Amino acid sequence: MPSNYWRAALVPLGRRLGLLLDDISLEHAEPQGHPERAERLRAIAREVDAGGFWDRCLRVRSRPATRGELEAAHAPRLLDLLEQDLPGHEGHIDADTYYAPKSWEAALHAAGGAVALVERAQAGDIEAGAALVRPPGHHATGDRPMGFCLLNNVAVAARAALAGGARRVAIVDWDLHHGNGTQEIFWQDPGVLYVSTHQYPFYPGTGAVDEIGEGPGRGYTLNVPLPAGAGDAEYEHVFARAIGPALRAYAPDFLLISAGFDAHVRDPIGQMRLSTGAFHRLTHRLRDAVGAAPVVAVLEGGYDLEGLASSNRAMLDALEGPAATPGGAAKAHPVAARVLGALRAALAGTPLEGAIGS
Ligand SMILES: [Zn+2]
Repeated sequence: MPSNYWRAALVPLGRRLGLLLDDISLEHAEPQGHPERAERLRAIAREVDAGGFWDRCLRVRSRPATRGELEAAHAPRLLDLLEQDLPGHEGHIDADTYYAPKSWEAALHAAGGAVALVERAQAGDIEAGAALVRPPGHHATGDRPMGFCLLNNVAVAARAALAGGARRVAIVDWDLHHGNGTQEIFWQDPGVLYVSTHQYPFYPGTGAVDEIGEGPGRGYTLNVPLPAGAGDAEYEHVFARAIGPALRAYAPDFLLISAGFDAHVRDPIGQMRLSTGAFHRLTHRLRDAVGAAPVVAVLEGGYDLEGLASSNRAMLDALEGPAATPGGAAKAHPVAARVLGALRAALAGTPLEGAIGS
């Protein structure tokens, strides 16, 4: 009998993790001094190497998103324009949002990479995954790139999950910033629950508690705007008493995380105070809330290299490892309680109202 037989029997089994981290993401070359820089991904890669993830995970290669996959989230005229203007050129779409000669190729692979992980999860090859890609996506709307984002990777992935057989998809966006683009794309779509925690007021200005979706999508957009300075206690409160219960009530068969790490305490852009360990605990809370549904994280922001790389590793550890008790009910925090009270009031008469605790 092989000696590792007993070891395998004693170590609690983790989940099969898919990782996607390709050099094409480095080709989105930033103008000097821009915070959304290729070095971010190199820092993540070093930490992934140090964690020995490549020995254990399934390496998934990115591929360009197809025109059909992109049109599920973006206007054809925007795609025509980007396809025509970006390849081989450099410039700015707005003051924040740049492109380099290979940015279009990188953007196609970032969106397509997120879709590739969704496909592997839906095929049963992996139970969780992380698309560690650039450029980020959650500010890109259906017809406009903005906020460092060209294509909305997580939105393209969500629509691909629905096309691949999911009936309900949830997106939890814990990036420092509100994902205005993702919110807009799914504003009227009850098939995608969009949940965001973000510093507020802050860029891009959207994400107030009363933005809850419209028409058939009314009540399927949940915004938890938090004041500058919020940290582990506020986030734990919100995840334990609102986001977890809302996910349980919605019962998605696929969960996507818009995984930005700019709410980390070290981040130079934001004023939030999340610790590295918080990303581990919050990931566990999400896993716990969606049961056996696959979880795929898609990288968004995070601009302190150490905070970014260590937080991403904390998330990967929680995605890969055995399920753990997430720590029960979080300690009450008055600021979080006030925001949840406002959210509950905004959701009055909608299906998820009762899931929002205090
Ligand atoms: Zn951000």
